[in-house]
Amino acid sequence: MSEWCDVCGGESWITRIIDDEVVPYRCSCFKRRLTLAFLGPELAKAPNRRSHLYCPQIDPQTGDMVGDLTLDNLFITGCWAEAAQHLRWAVGAKNYDDPSFTFKMVPDEMLLRVFLGDFSYKSRSVKVRDDIETYNNLSDLVGGHSLLIVRLGKLGHTNRAAGNVLLEALNLRGAQSLPTWLIEEGAVHFGPDHKFYNDEVGRYIQDNFETIDVGGDVEAERQLAVQLAELRLESASMSTEETDPAPVEESRDRFRADEKRAGYNRPRQWRGSRPRKSGKLSGVGL
Ligand SMILES: [Zn+2]
Repeated sequence: MSEWCDVCGGESWITRIIDDEVVPYRCSCFKRRLTLAFLGPELAKAPNRRSHLYCPQIDPQTGDMVGDLTLDNLFITGCWAEAAQHLRWAVGAKNYDDPSFTFKMVPDEMLLRVFLGDFSYKSRSVKVRDDIETYNNLSDLVGGHSLLIVRLGKLGHTNRAAGNVLLEALNLRGAQSLPTWLIEEGAVHFGPDHKFYNDEVGRYIQDNFETIDVGGDVEAERQLAVQLAELRLESASMSTEETDPAPVEESRDRFRADEKRAGYNRPRQWRGSRPRKSGKLSGVGL
């Protein structure tokens, strides 16, 4: 049900009388709702402000169009609260100028879960498999959209596959000549201690991404993240005891254990139909 609008009463249409004819028009609230739906809940709630990440203009010297960074690979550092405002402007304004522009924003965790097969069609129960988004492999998730935004913000255990999964995602984008923005949220530095870091992906990012700092109170965000993580651990230790899974691959176990602690429900059993083994990637460019 759409929100109430004083102009159209929630009908999305208004009428005007022109030359004795009643002419229907889309109410401005309709466009607003479309924009908010395009942005998604995370960006829609960020304050709207101008950002240099999307400020296209003609360079008077060369006559080239400059200032549209949605075409480039960016490694964005700073607070999420700040980054969200920049992202909102960038993807919203870009879509306004170019309606064919689309973006997808995913947490780093999701790359790994799709890689592990959690979002594949076969992994879904018959009841829900046609009602929710399905990604049978990493390419399904990261391909296609004009811009992929990956939030590198999750705390968690090291997972041997994670760095390679991120690298494969970036390679898939690169092979399609499509840009990616990586968001290093202030709470977690993307370095050797980060779950999705390894030397190879670190080098790739250094060679192929431009770093942009959007600032903000990084220290406050870091402290908040630590507090949240502690809260999560506390509530997990109060919940029912977890049982040890069968001795399968170490990285997967750790991932599952981490998820349990984080309070995810796991409604289904592992089916053992994972597309690939960790560490062995067959994606484009590898
Ligand atoms: Zn309206």
